[in-house]
Amino acid sequence: MISTRTVLVLNCGSSSLKYSVVEPDSGSHLADGIIERIGAGPIADHEAALRAAFGELADAGLDLDSLGLVAVGHRVVHGGPDLYRPTIVDDALIATLEALSPLAPLHNPPAIIGIEVARKVLPDLPHVVVFDTAYFHDLPPAAAQYAIPREVSAQWNIRRYGFHGTSHRYVSEQAAEFLQAPLESLNQIVLHLGNGASASAIVGGRPQDTSMGMTPMEGLVMGTRSGDIDPGVIMYLNRTAGMSMAEVETMLNRRSGVLGLGGEIDFRLLHRRIESGSESDRAEAQLAYDVYIHRLRKYIGSYLALLGNTDVITFTAGVGENDAAVRRDALSGLAPLGIELDEHLNDSPARSPRRISFETSPTTVLVIPTDEEMAIGRACAGAIDG
Ligand code: ADP
Repeated sequence: MISTRTVLVLNCGSSSLKYSVVEPDSGSHLADGIIERIGAGPIADHEAALRAAFGELADAGLDLDSLGLVAVGHRVVHGGPDLYRPTIVDDALIATLEALSPLAPLHNPPAIIGIEVARKVLPDLPHVVVFDTAYFHDLPPAAAQYAIPREVSAQWNIRRYGFHGTSHRYVSEQAAEFLQAPLESLNQIVLHLGNGASASAIVGGRPQDTSMGMTPMEGLVMGTRSGDIDPGVIMYLNRTAGMSMAEVETMLNRRSGVLGLGGEIDFRLLHRRIESGSESDRAEAQLAYDVYIHRLRKYIGSYLALLGNTDVITFTAGVGENDAAVRRDALSGLAPLGIELDEHLNDSPARSPRRISFETSPTTVLVIPTDEEMAIGRACAGAIDG
């Protein structure tokens, strides 16, 4: 009997642990789950969360010892300037990750805790880290560099790193597969629209630009993040409004974006407010939606200019996969640029990769479900294969 190998994929936040068991060779998911409210109630810490995840797997009839696990894959948001290959964890790597934490203070520390706990609980398996920044490591300097003094960038490792790279890579490869065209032949725009949101422009499988920057705060309007903002606003809030930098950071990360403008994070609820809220709720929610779409169109337009000729635009993640109105409004009126959505295809929901543009549209528009866990599982399998 040929035994199938599986990878346990972990994504640790400060108060949640997402887990999946995937088969990298077949592409199937054996289990997906999330343990939330770490630090509250019975889930005292990340170790308790991991044990709770094992409990859920056991309840689903998945016994760890007979699962055929060959590795544990860990999603790490920031790899800094030097780490970008899927890397097998050892003590030196942990120390390097700890040194990188100031670059991603909200994201890397809980991931490191997750890795350490998982190494303790599953000491006999290789642990592999996969970085959200990896795919964008070789962005052209014109896209990666901020226009600040070079010596400041160099001293402090300031550059545009980009995030959601695992998803942009996976979705752009899936798009090529769907079109039965070599990846190398395609100019692509990928729009990853979830709670976090980012766009990328890709030429022949190599990203040329992406909307997130040194941190995941730059770019598109997101569920709770502002995206692009004049840095002058930050100084003004600090100097004149008397907000501390920590307060400004929390505001821009957690209380801004669609939530800050329209009172909801979730697009389903935002649409409901627009349709049936009180007059003032309706106006707020509409403004949030309009600002979101306006920013998205600005990025699409800039990437169309960057690419010159765009073969395919792909929507992915929670909003991109499910919200037909966002897709329609992001691309309306662009027939002169070769982008023609088929409203009927756009409005028909489906879980699998699909085209939503007319067959005659010079630029093909696709919806492709992202699968970051599978992409991480495959990267792990590749890393342990050497
Ligand atoms: P994350 O960035 O947390 O991984 P997801 O990619 O899962 O986020 O996206 C979550 C978001 O997707 C939700 O907050 C919601 O706005 C949106 N979403 C999910 N389902 C739908 C739907 N059926 N219609 C519109 N938006 C949806």
